[in-house]
Amino acid sequence: MRTISLIIVHSSAVRPYQQSGVSEIDRWHRARGWKNGCGYHFVIRRDGTTEIGRPLAMVGAHCQNHNRHSIGVCYEGGLNNEGFPRDTRSRAQVQAMRQLMEQLHTQFPKALIMGHNVFTPTKACPCFNAAEEYRDLQPIP
Ligand SMILES: [Zn+2]
Repeated sequence: MRTISLIIVHSSAVRPYQQSGVSEIDRWHRARGWKNGCGYHFVIRRDGTTEIGRPLAMVGAHCQNHNRHSIGVCYEGGLNNEGFPRDTRSRAQVQAMRQLMEQLHTQFPKALIMGHNVFTPTKACPCFNAAEEYRDLQPIP
């Protein structure tokens, strides 16, 4: 297994009526020329279903310069009907993400949990403060 020092949280940047499960994201990422397809390790659908994007042992493709030592977790959504960045997570997504973060924290207790925008400040992704929301799951300094 790789060394994991970061868990990076994303939104898929789609509007409420748009689908973005692993199969859609896989197509988009292949269209960008990423031959391993879906760059996230997990995608959380609006109904709370957690889909596997790629195995944890495989390096992801979701955050420039930080892929090698991280896990990418994405929720379906992130834009409102007008296309503006918003935390659009459903109650089921919030619960599923919390459950996944608890599980990942148990597995990788030294990994920091951060939103994508911490590393790429020009992006709104994931449209909520992940470090703050999961502060109880952050490594003890
Ligand atoms: Zn992102």
